Amino acid sequence: MAVQCVKCGKEGEPITAALFMGRLEAEIKAKVCQPCWKEWEGMRVMVINEYQINLGDESGRDMVKKHMRAFLKIGDAVDASKVQENFKPQ
Ligand SMILES: [Zn+2]
Repeated sequence: MAVQCVKCGKEGEPITAALFMGRLEAEIKAKVCQPCWKEWEGMRVMVINEYQINLGDESGRDMVKKHMRAFLKIGDAVDASKVQENFKPQ
């Protein structure tokens, strides 16, 4: 079953892997295709590096989630200019 992706605007392969995202997981899987999720996984590393996010911190994890929601277009936009300067889609 294909998913209508809010990120790329196309119908695409659904995400099949477990994301360990808690309550967000169902929403992500319903709205985001597999290629866009892959793209986020690359972006996530950059977000963590550029903003020097400590994932041991609750606030750090929230920050990553905020970026994720913005990147996947399921949440409000955030200022990700730091990352976008360096971001090169594959
Ligand atoms: Zn997509």
